[in-house]
Amino acid sequence: MNLNDLSKISDHFPTTEKMPVLFLGHGSPMNAIEENIFVQGFRNISKEIPKPNAIICISAHWFTNGTFVTAMQLPKTIHDFYGFPKALFDVQYPANGSPELAKETIELLAPIAEEDHSWGLDHGAWSVLRHLYPDADIPVIQLSIDYTKPPEYHFDLAKKLSKLREKGILIIGSGNIVHNLRLIDWKNIDTVGAGWDWAIEAREKTNNWILDGDFQKLIDYQKQGTFLQYAVPTPDHFLPMIYNLGLKEKSEELSLFNDSLIGGSLSMTSIKIG
Ligand code: ZN
Repeated sequence: MNLNDLSKISDHFPTTEKMPVLFLGHGSPMNAIEENIFVQGFRNISKEIPKPNAIICISAHWFTNGTFVTAMQLPKTIHDFYGFPKALFDVQYPANGSPELAKETIELLAPIAEEDHSWGLDHGAWSVLRHLYPDADIPVIQLSIDYTKPPEYHFDLAKKLSKLREKGILIIGSGNIVHNLRLIDWKNIDTVGAGWDWAIEAREKTNNWILDGDFQKLIDYQKQGTFLQYAVPTPDHFLPMIYNLGLKEKSEELSLFNDSLIGGSLSMTSIKIG
């Protein structure tokens, strides 16, 4: 089955309609099994958009030397964390993969991407997907992030995936814009809205740049000052958002949801484009 067939079998989805693009702030892995305002936000957003034919997830937790696309029929649920309750390790997200979509994605990204048969779905993907699509009835593939490349590269690479949106493919970036686990405020670990001064400044300024379409400031995030160096100490959780911004077309609307700090040094800010 190729993607043209996918669009034919999908009578619930008008293929002339372009799928939105989502960036999801995933936060703690515990969000996978807890009930809170953020998981409500994930559930709500899935009701606002057409049901996709398939999903491509760009997760902060698959950071590789090179670019890979999961191409197995049945991706395993990867529990890529330590020290959490057994209930979290018991979670399975049994969505199918899509070797066909993997092949199409690799062709669009040619010549830089390769098939992967060893990864699966990491918690950057399944901890949010189980709220958006609890039935796990939509095929999911993951696209890795090449850690040897600068932000501009990822911004441009994303554009090559644009036409998949017209085939009912939902492209999700999963990370966190403000994400400094070393500086968590343990006294306020579960306090929504709690943030260090630099985290407050980082949320405000990055939100303004996102909403104003000033994406170059975000691509050049390392030059914007100390507040953002604290907020983005490593690129892994920031770069998924750069993919999403790269997919925004000029005329498209962009809105924020789940837009709160938590635990002092994290933001759950999420973005819907289109
Ligand atoms: Zn994470």
